[in-house]
Amino acid sequence: MADSDWDSKTIDTVRKYAMQNTLEYDGAGQSGSVLGRLLGERADLRPRAKDLKSLVEEEVEAANQMAKEYGLDAVRESLAATNPEALQRQKQQKRVGLKPLPNAIEGKVILRFAPNPNGPLTIGHSRGVVINSEFAKMYSGKVVLRYDDTDTRVKPPLPEAYGWIEEEYEWIAGRPADIIIRASERMPIYLEYAKQMLESGFGYVCRCSAGEFKDLRDNSQPCPCRGKNTENNLSDWQSMNDGSIEEGGAVVRVKTDLELPNPALRDWPALRIQHSPHPMVGDLYKVWPLLDFQSAIEDHLQGVTHIVRGKDLMDSTRKQTLLYNHFGWKYPEPLYWGRVKVHEFGGFSTSGMKVDIADGKFEGWDDPRLPTISALKRRGFESKAIRDFWLDLGLTQKDISISMQTIESFNSSVIDSVCERRTFVRNPRNMSLNMDEIEHPDELQIARHPHGEIEGVREWTISDEFVIEDRDYSEKLRLKDFADVLIKENQAIVNSLQRSDKRTIVHWLPINQSRMARLTTPLGTEFRIDEGLIENIDLVEGEILQLERVGFAKIEKVPENGPVELLFLHG
Ligand SMILES: [Zn+2]
Repeated sequence: MADSDWDSKTIDTVRKYAMQNTLEYDGAGQSGSVLGRLLGERADLRPRAKDLKSLVEEEVEAANQMAKEYGLDAVRESLAATNPEALQRQKQQKRVGLKPLPNAIEGKVILRFAPNPNGPLTIGHSRGVVINSEFAKMYSGKVVLRYDDTDTRVKPPLPEAYGWIEEEYEWIAGRPADIIIRASERMPIYLEYAKQMLESGFGYVCRCSAGEFKDLRDNSQPCPCRGKNTENNLSDWQSMNDGSIEEGGAVVRVKTDLELPNPALRDWPALRIQHSPHPMVGDLYKVWPLLDFQSAIEDHLQGVTHIVRGKDLMDSTRKQTLLYNHFGWKYPEPLYWGRVKVHEFGGFSTSGMKVDIADGKFEGWDDPRLPTISALKRRGFESKAIRDFWLDLGLTQKDISISMQTIESFNSSVIDSVCERRTFVRNPRNMSLNMDEIEHPDELQIARHPHGEIEGVREWTISDEFVIEDRDYSEKLRLKDFADVLIKENQAIVNSLQRSDKRTIVHWLPINQSRMARLTTPLGTEFRIDEGLIENIDLVEGEILQLERVGFAKIEKVPENGPVELLFLHG
């Protein structure tokens, strides 16, 4: 059924929902959801739902196309002109905050965020910063930033990372951590608790090989070391600490019920020998706690009331609860979340990035192709967008795969109203302007921001020479914010300042108003470079602009000579 078979009121209604949907989905409106909303409001149309489908599809396509060609601002303006109330719906979208913490007392809540400082923070870490600091805010509580840096061999700490993480924590959370501790500086405490465990008889030094122990444990059988008396345990403990037992030659185990259904929990290892020196404290210690033990002791000492952790760490909760029972302590409230994979960055790990940076595959930790917080910050992401994103997701236990586009759309809503517009013409084609036939202004004034959140205008002096993108070259064009032109062999003849028909609107730039620029776009592990001309008005290093028809980009460098360096942020 063609448009004309519908009355104009119906067409207007469909158009309204289509534009609204395009705005909500950043230019990717969905006809299914438009149809649903439309039938919800117009019961009279329900019997004709099937016929309506093609009209809806056409209008959604048109709205998406408008967004693609002229930007979301154009859609917003158009909707504001006809149905301003339809813009309200966007703002009323439901906001999912965090649910209350169980057994939380105002002013007494203590949480912790415990990264391994083997590199700076990544997007994945930012979830822990956001969720913990938000809970602390809800209850006027505190967050302990604890460096779990007792692994000297597999993932040893990177000395610079401590300072980076403190700054990144503060940037993400909007305030510094309340307490900062480093496990490696608190080694005497862990060793003292280990000794106490041996003296009290709920821990023992096991000198079996891993294989021997596992065979016995899997059959619920004690190993020969389990029955040792305190004197022998303390003597072995001494040998572990003075370096006379080699790495792998002994561990300290926590006694548990050997009939526990999960064999991994039975007599779990709490401390092991590491002879490789620690980057911060050197070779002062030969015995180092494993994470489950160190973290359990610290949570108790810091008075942690709630632990938010991945559901893959439920076994840690079980092991630590067994240890707490031995010491007679009360275990914090555990809360769990599922795994979140950002699918563009699925293959990255901190250790892997470290190797690739050393090999020169990436420029550094803030290389725009990496999922680190320093890279996101460099590119121009706002911490509020990262907070909004994680809070919106909440504490779900589902495993989720998300796209960076989701974080980008949160970022767009934070920065859209504060970024000035500029024209950037890629692959420019030189054109000349012929204005003989028409009265025309010498200057153009274009808003710095289309809805006036930023006041003022960009002033262009119209000159004979200008550029358009090569791919836009066509017989009839409208030069945005200026005039309808007819093109003949690189000459544009102005035939109307008013919009006279539906010809394509293109962005353009007078040459006297421009300078060279290079736009760098991270694409997976590569970069795409677009060369072109940028509007040469107030280009300030570090600022983010919305390049019309391209998207947001950061001005990285404005050299005295040579092209302005732009780094693409997102569309
Ligand atoms: Zn043993």
